[in-house]
Amino acid sequence: MTVKIEDKLFLDRFKVDDESHLKIVDGAICMTQCGEQPCLYICPANVYKLEKDRISVSYEGCLECGSCRIGCPHLNIEWRFPRGGYGVRHKFG
Ligand code: SF4
Ligand code: SF4
Repeated sequence: MTVKIEDKLFLDRFKVDDESHLKIVDGAICMTQCGEQPCLYICPANVYKLEKDRISVSYEGCLECGSCRIGCPHLNIEWRFPRGGYGVRHKFG
């Protein structure tokens, strides 16, 4: 049986903080200097989305993998783990 990524993500649970642990430092860089906008493609949880004039950050679904922090060519993402007790909880099986 083939297991899809959506099936795996369904097993995760989140305790969402009311403040984001992810922040785009300078939104203008995203829209004027970042040609390929890799954050839109490297995030396994589709946290970053292209809106009309900005990149939105749906931090609630972050899997805390760190890929966006490394993949942003402009080091334009301020990244930290969620506060203690908040964030993703992985379940296996
Ligand atoms: Fe902005 Fe970095 Fe995403 Fe580029 S990769 S759009 S600079 S957050
Ligand atoms: Fe997406 Fe991983 Fe960055 Fe969270 S840490 S926003 S899951 S790429």
